[in-house]
Amino acid sequence: MSHPSLNAIFERCTEEGDCWLWQDGVNGAGWPSISIGGRTQYVRRVVRGMMDGEPVPARMRVPAKCGQRLCVSPYCSIVCTHRTSHRMAAERGAFGRPDAILRTTLRQRAQSAYSDELVSQIRTSEEDTATVCQRTGMSSSHVRRIRSGEARRDLSNPLNGLGARA
Ligand SMILES: [Zn+2]
Repeated sequence: MSHPSLNAIFERCTEEGDCWLWQDGVNGAGWPSISIGGRTQYVRRVVRGMMDGEPVPARMRVPAKCGQRLCVSPYCSIVCTHRTSHRMAAERGAFGRPDAILRTTLRQRAQSAYSDELVSQIRTSEEDTATVCQRTGMSSSHVRRIRSGEARRDLSNPLNGLGARA
């Protein structure tokens, strides 16, 4: 195709806050791509160039502040050096880990047959493991794992599960 208008690109996205999430073609690495005059180009870079009124220099990167690979929004993209772009990605990685733990914990919790009330009662009670097993039907290893925090991590303390266990 010839050079697309900003509107033509916007129409191929779904809007999510400031983000424009590209719904059309991506390259092998999953980056929104578009063929202009027979050349494959990154959509985010094309949009940035249109907003700035001049093409983004080839040596510069165009990361999205939101961290979403499919986002081509000019409200999210910035022009920066490779070094800054790498730092942004590393910072996102550092904050990505608690998210992953939260997702895993919520998934495990959804699969668990025991209520949160029961779990917290088991954690605070003075009963020995065998008594709890008899009363609840839980296996002794599960009771031990709940009490140690390995199972049913307490999400009210963000440091749990991050290696900060006392
Ligand atoms: Zn975005």
